[in-house]
Amino acid sequence: MTTHILLNGKPRTIKAGVDANEAIAKLQAKGYDVERCKPLPGLKTLEKWVCDGGCKATDGCKVDPDGTCIHGKKSWLLVLGMI
Ligand SMILES: [Zn+2]
Repeated sequence: MTTHILLNGKPRTIKAGVDANEAIAKLQAKGYDVERCKPLPGLKTLEKWVCDGGCKATDGCKVDPDGTCIHGKKSWLLVLGMI
């Protein structure tokens, strides 16, 4: 299973077959800011969010396009620098 992470705020994936917990621990040990996130939304989804004025945060919560959810996760549009 592919694991999705934000590495210093940039969406990245950890390939299937790699121990995600170990990989994340190694990155954190090197001083990187790492957090697990939902898979990166597709362009169509992002466009829809821009038009609809709603969005999801990186952990899947519903947020305003420029918002942050109650868990402190930013909206995908913010993370991706689209707004
Ligand atoms: Zn949340």
